[in-house]
Amino acid sequence: MTDPYSPCMLCPRRCGADRSGGRTGYCKTTSAVTVNLSMIHRGEEPVLGGKGGCGAVFFEGCSLRCIFCQNQGITSPTGKGKVYDENSLADLFKKLESDGAGAIDLVTPLHFAPTVANAVRLAKDTGLGIPVICNCSGYESVNTLKLFDGLIDIYLPDLKYYSSKVSSKYASAPDYFTTAALALDEMFRQAGSIKLDDAGKTMTSGMIVRHMMLPGNLFDSKHIIDYLASRFGNDIYISLMSQYTPMPHLLENENAPEELRRTLSKDNYERLCDHLSDLGQTNAFVQEMSSQGTLMIPDFKL
Ligand code: SF4
Repeated sequence: MTDPYSPCMLCPRRCGADRSGGRTGYCKTTSAVTVNLSMIHRGEEPVLGGKGGCGAVFFEGCSLRCIFCQNQGITSPTGKGKVYDENSLADLFKKLESDGAGAIDLVTPLHFAPTVANAVRLAKDTGLGIPVICNCSGYESVNTLKLFDGLIDIYLPDLKYYSSKVSSKYASAPDYFTTAALALDEMFRQAGSIKLDDAGKTMTSGMIVRHMMLPGNLFDSKHIIDYLASRFGNDIYISLMSQYTPMPHLLENENAPEELRRTLSKDNYERLCDHLSDLGQTNAFVQEMSSQGTLMIPDFKL
């Protein structure tokens, strides 16, 4: 049987690392599935998780590695992450459900997709009764996403960059948009249009695409939401995030672009929100500007 981790081609980087042999790839992880943090998280979009919040499972590593990463303390392997196999991961999901979570939120899981897919299947086969969310960067391989077919209820990808000049500069990924567009099509094929519970408040399946606006990139952001509105319209939610914060690791990097050293201007964010509204997109979430500088993802308003 072939080993999906060696040589690893699981993400669009296709770096071929021998992860089962203990080597790390561009994502900085071996095949040992490491979780940095698991917790009940109440700050996601208000349609996710219901009253109980989301049972978030933060996996270490990331295959995109944007220079301004807002979650570097969580995604960077620390050597202290706890290692799981598919059985213990399935148990973790069920523990979060018994702690009151209304959904399982898999954060950046796709570089561990073969193990995580088996764990989700096992958990569902043995009683997990809440939706499973796949929260990811959008820079994903369609073949790897197919491992999740029938297992993920809600996709929560980012769509970060439109121009390849911008994605090269910030993430060394000139193919970001073309790759992510194919990935989002596959996610939508699997999850379908938005479905809510009987009370009409909590999502049971579908897709939310997040876009965090970056300082100095209004033009790129407009292209992103033009694309999302024309491709999916109100069959998905679009979540516009204003929370960009220049993190210490970026400020310490003397090669970091000047525009990323500042926070987002309120005027530019409001212009983008107005543009989204002008496109007729009513399934949308926006944030208060006070969300800047807070840890992880803050509260949204409809
Ligand atoms: S998931 Fe990691 S090891 Fe595998 S191809 Fe991508 S960057 Fe390389």
